This record gives sequence, structure tokens and C-alpha cells, in this order.
Amino acid sequence: MRLKLEKIVKGGDCIAHLEGDVYFVHYGLPGETVMARITQIKKNIILADVAEVIIPSPHRIKPKCPFFGPSACGGCDFQHADLNHQRELKKDIVRQCLNFIGKLDAEFEVSPLSPAESGERWRNRIRLAADESGAAGMRRRHSHQIVPIKDCLISQVNLADLAVLEKRWPAGSEIELIFSDSDGKGPPDVSCRVLTKERFSENRKKKSSGKTFEGQNGSLSDGAAPEKDNLFFKVKGTDYRVSPLSFFQMHKNAAEFLSDTVLEYLSPKPKENAVDLYSGVGLFTLPLAKAVGEEGSVTGIESNVYAVKDAEYNLRHFPQARVLHASVTAYSLKGMNPDCVVLDPPRSGIQKEALEILLTKNKLKKIVYVSCDPATFARDAKIITSAAWDMKKFTSADLFPMTAHTETVALFERK
Ligand code: SAH
Repeated sequence: MRLKLEKIVKGGDCIAHLEGDVYFVHYGLPGETVMARITQIKKNIILADVAEVIIPSPHRIKPKCPFFGPSACGGCDFQHADLNHQRELKKDIVRQCLNFIGKLDAEFEVSPLSPAESGERWRNRIRLAADESGAAGMRRRHSHQIVPIKDCLISQVNLADLAVLEKRWPAGSEIELIFSDSDGKGPPDVSCRVLTKERFSENRKKKSSGKTFEGQNGSLSDGAAPEKDNLFFKVKGTDYRVSPLSFFQMHKNAAEFLSDTVLEYLSPKPKENAVDLYSGVGLFTLPLAKAVGEEGSVTGIESNVYAVKDAEYNLRHFPQARVLHASVTAYSLKGMNPDCVVLDPPRSGIQKEALEILLTKNKLKKIVYVSCDPATFARDAKIITSAAWDMKKFTSADLFPMTAHTETVALFERK
């Protein structure tokens, strides 16, 4: 198909129209004329990849990674666009979500995390997959097919420097590499986990039931990961313990940026009661505990038992902080009446009932919402702003260069 690409949409596709059909085209840029190859025909839309660029965008560049593209690694979306343009595209995606889904407007930019951002070598966690022969590679986009790579440009450590690509792994397993930096100096530590087919599905279904992953030596870890498996990440002078099964921010500069922005937006005062929903290993809980002091309190809610254990360790010097091992629901929020709340949910956003209960808390003045999905954020923001709250601040940062993902942070205040 010869297509003229129109605007960018969530996921990094460009829309195109031809003979009454709507196309969602990946690996293109707005304004380009391309030859596209259909990958999937759905009910109302046709999915396609750019096969050949006929009239390129002025922002198109030659991807630095030789393994990027429709028939190669599917880990990145935007290697073919210069970094500034990537952020313009993401701004447009976020703006569309705010306007159309959230019925909201905001002045904002998608900012790089540092002036030195190159878009390369930022990820502290990489997941490879082993093919039938046991060789590790990356998955194609929307596919189980594994393609060979020699390095990953966004991986913090050059994979060619590790034995991971020469070694043979159990066929069908996934290999997770985590690069942790506890002193911020010198090369990061590398830790490696192998998730075999059986263990992986078990891990997905039942994260908190123990026996969830296989160490490099093939031994199984029961329950809480043993001490030796714990990793440490330094953020603003504090070492955070992160077990391999706990979530932690993936961009090497993201944790500091988010922790600073959340504290600035929420501006908690001494003696206040703060709540940190989806608190992970306590990245926001700890600075909140410092800010409210021993006469205040901060309560985290987190559903992953490994993250809760990490948070308990990370918060051990702060008696004013506690973390509940629970899911964020109307029920778990029932007995609370905080002054300020931060929430940082997964892509699905917050449950409607839980959000509605939160909005009825009469002492609550400020809500900071950290989101990695502008569409579910906008859906939830609409509920918040329909209930006598205003969005006072909004910002976005490029936590995921080369991909179509964006992080946003918003401050809501009661009218
Ligand atoms: N704010 C933290 C963690 C954010 S990631 C940080 O920046 O490091 C989101 C966290 O929410 C993960 O730790 C995940 O385990 C947890 N989570 C996912 N669904 C949840 C739910 N329904 N209730 C509580 N926690 C949940």
C-alpha cells in the first residue's frame, strides 16, 4: 500500500486513510509517504509496518541500532526519529489523551531527564528470550519470533561485554539482566535471572506464592528472595533495596527525577499524614517520611509481597512510615483520611471505586498522580476533575527514549 502518514497516536503508530480504510502504521513519521506492508487486519482498522520510505520526514534519521525495525528487534519504536522529534511525538500523544479522553488542557513539554540525554544506554533492566537452540535474542514486535542481536543500544551495559549472547540457555526461557548501581561510580553490577517456561508462567500468575524464579545456578528461591539476590540502587544518597521481583524505575535517572517532582508537587508539611499508593520499594514513601517527620505519618499500599519486604527494609529508620501489603481498592482505602496522596499505578490506572472513595476524604487537599499511561491517566483525571478538583500542575518526561512510552506527573487540588 502506498500511504500518506497523518498524525501519531498512542503506541507510536501513524494514522493513514485509503479508500475508506483506516491504517495504523508503525515505523513511520507524520507527513511521510511510505510503502506499507499489512501485518494484521482487524475489524475497523488495518495494522501495517513501513516497508519503504518514499518521501521521508525531515526528522527521520538512520537508526543507530542495526537491530531495529519491522523484521528485527521490537523493543524500540522511534529509533528512526531524532530525539527532539521523539519528544514532540510523545507530547502529541499525551495531548491527545488529555484533550479527547480527559477533556483537559495543559501547557507542558516532554522533557529529557538530563541535558546529556543521548537516548542510549539508559535501561537498567533488559529481558532477552532464548530461541529453540538456546541462543538469546529479542522478540519481534507483536510476535513470539526471536531475532538475533549483538547488543542493545538502550541497555545500560553493552551486551557484547557480557557472556549472555554466547551462552546457551534453556529453550524458550527468558533471561533478565539487571544493572544496579549502588555507588554511582564505575560500571554497574550485573545480575541475571533465568525464567523458564514453567517457572515463568507460575511467576506471572502467582507472584506472592514463593518459588517464583530460577537463579543463574538453577536453584529455586523460596518466598522472599534470599539476601544475596537483593540489589541496591542509590537515589539521592539513599540505597534502596530492590529484590529482582520488585518493580523499580528503569531509566537510570528516572528515580531521582520522579522522587523530586512528587515531593515538589505534593509539598508535604511536618506532622501531615501522607499516603503512597502503589508504593513499590518505597521510592516516594521514604522522602515523604522525612518530610512529615516523626509526628506525621506515611502509609504505603503495595500488592507485591517482595516489594513490601524491600520497602520495610528501606524504611527501617522511619517509625512514621508503614507499608500495607494490599491491593489498592475502595476497601483498603476505607479507614484512611490523609492530607495528601501520591499514586503511581501500573498501566491500567486506578480502580474507579477506589478513586471515588479517595475523592470523598474530607481532609485530603492534594493528589499527585504519576502515570506511565497517558490514556488511563486521562480517564482517571476526568473523574478527579469532575469531582470539584482542579489539575494545577502537569509535566511529562522522557523516561523511555526510543520507545513510544511517556511518563506524566500531575498535581490535583480541591477547588
Ligand atoms: N512508586 C513506585 C512503584 C511504582 S510501580 C516507584 O516509583 O518505584 C507500581 C507498583 O504498583 C508496583 O510495585 C506494583 O507491584 C504495584 N501494584 C500493581 N497493582 C497494584 C494494586 N492493585 N494494588 C497495589 N499495588 C499494586
